[in-house]
Amino acid sequence: MAEETVFGKILSGEIPSTEVYSDEEFYAFRDINPGAPTHVLVIPRKPIPKITDATEEDAPLLGRLLLAANRIAEQEGLTEKGFRFVINCGEWGGQTVFHLHLHILGGRPLQWPPG
Ligand code: 5GP
Repeated sequence: MAEETVFGKILSGEIPSTEVYSDEEFYAFRDINPGAPTHVLVIPRKPIPKITDATEEDAPLLGRLLLAANRIAEQEGLTEKGFRFVINCGEWGGQTVFHLHLHILGGRPLQWPPG
């Protein structure tokens, strides 16, 4: 079995987090080191390490991940001004936690391209 990540421990409650959204398939919480005034992480309860590990079977889950993130952005008041979804993948992509997660960043104008 793959080693449990910090997000696995957040899902089990072993590590505390500030909940933003929860359902049977996803959990969302505030990033501990926010990169913007609003910085939420949305994770599937299913531990997929990287986006490139997702399979055809995960296609509906990935679709619902985006729709859940849309709802959270709305709930956070980000929709009118706009926001950014980010999925980092692997070392050069800046991924540090190997449990698939989508970042929602907003609350100020965001620079593009990122560093
Ligand atoms: P990555 O760099 O893998 O795309 O994003 C991982 C994110 O998880 C980082 O933005 C980091 O601040 C956040 N993070 C790491 N450990 C914890 C934690 O224990 N609690 C919370 N809330 N966020 C964490």
